[in-house]
Amino acid sequence: MNKRKAAPTCNCPTCKTPIAWSDRFPFRPFCSERCKLIDLGEWASEGHRIAGEPVCGEVPGAGPGPDQPRH
Ligand SMILES: [Zn+2]
Repeated sequence: MNKRKAAPTCNCPTCKTPIAWSDRFPFRPFCSERCKLIDLGEWASEGHRIAGEPVCGEVPGAGPGPDQPRH
């Protein structure tokens, strides 16, 4: 059992560093926890922006809801 397959590689989405898809990189596809957090931070900031705003009055079609009797 000397056959060793080379681990597939990919590039860190954050800093484009090539990493091996193996247990050596527990944060894959990111090269490090830092890059993972950066990426997650970007996602979170987008989500936070939406979640942080009151959406009650901004829902499209928030007029007559299902609770209101229709004509
Ligand atoms: Zn990276």
